[in-house]
Amino acid sequence: MNKPSPIEQPEPAQTKGTVPPPLAMLAELTHRCPLSCPYCSNPLALSGKEGELTTGEWIDVFRQAADIGVLQLHISGGEPASRRDLVELVEGAVQAGLYTNLVTSGIGLTPRRMDELEKVGLEHIQLSLQGTNAELADRIGGYKGGYDRKMQVAAEIAKRGIPLTLNAVMHRHNMDDLERTIEMALELGARRLEVACVQFHGWALKNRAALMPTRQQTDKVKQQVAEAQARLRGVLAFDFVPPDYYADFPKACMGGWGSTGLNITPDGTVLPCHVAQSIPHLEFDNIRQTPLRDIWYDSTAFNAYRGTGWMPEPCTSCERKEIDFGGCRCQALLLAGDANAVDPVCSLSPDHGRIIDILAAEMAGQAPDFTYRKL
Ligand code: SF4
Ligand code: SF4
Repeated sequence: MNKPSPIEQPEPAQTKGTVPPPLAMLAELTHRCPLSCPYCSNPLALSGKEGELTTGEWIDVFRQAADIGVLQLHISGGEPASRRDLVELVEGAVQAGLYTNLVTSGIGLTPRRMDELEKVGLEHIQLSLQGTNAELADRIGGYKGGYDRKMQVAAEIAKRGIPLTLNAVMHRHNMDDLERTIEMALELGARRLEVACVQFHGWALKNRAALMPTRQQTDKVKQQVAEAQARLRGVLAFDFVPPDYYADFPKACMGGWGSTGLNITPDGTVLPCHVAQSIPHLEFDNIRQTPLRDIWYDSTAFNAYRGTGWMPEPCTSCERKEIDFGGCRCQALLLAGDANAVDPVCSLSPDHGRIIDILAAEMAGQAPDFTYRKL
């Protein structure tokens, strides 16, 4: 699933030592999804239905999360509507006192199910948009009829007045449609539009050469977002995730490792970020064996890259070290071969040349076809 956009950033309620509590939790209910987007952030090896946490286990996790200070719950997947107990899970989260955001492709949300979700108190929906027309969207999602179904779901959301964020993942094949994407967000009654340029992990990494935008597309999209933000202030809010490979400095992955958020995989593994399992020297605890409080505050994995103490130079003496926290650990491992290194996206990184080489290689010649995950 695409990552959720931030809805609000309340202040932490409590701390243990110098570590603040988490504010947001991403619950990946399942890896099952009828779509097969070539940029899906789910791992290449998907976990099966048989290993998924049960209804009772998830509701217990939601209570534990609320107990340690989590305020926002992003209910995601795969496609969360693939879980038959979705309504029960949302109800459990609402009763635990969490603000609930359903991150969905819309497939599987029938009007009756939406009535039930509304009744149990679902507070927000984040609907993904693969493209601005059926031909493009269904090709990208690998699911014929998906676009039409999504538009029906969007109309049902608007009818009920449930706050909506439209989540447009942008890449080489749909970046030139940004103006139409903005128009669609307004037509569908969205309050927020996430323009999220593909981050190259999981399936997106496998499809990097097919998805990588050009520099010209990237510059144009930045300008269009800035203009639209000024023009639509008070009407439509924007979250913009620029493409990493064209940036001078990295993003603060998860706002800093183990600082504000955590992810739970379908089988209950607790992660500091959704790709963290790509770092082989870290061991991740499972909620079936260890309480969430202990994992957040005391686990080796959550403490491995917390704060700034682990950083190498030039981060240690850099004025941005508490802005981007040295970037993404998974990207450092992937591109520099070392999770403890500076994120090579940073122009100050000794490995920044890797980014330049990758861009040169992937801009030469035709973009290849997508590789889709097998359902
Ligand atoms: S809708 Fe696309 S991105 Fe989201 S989980 Fe399904 S395949 Fe992945
Ligand atoms: S040197 Fe480190 S802290 Fe400074 S901008 Fe680069 S990644 Fe961020």
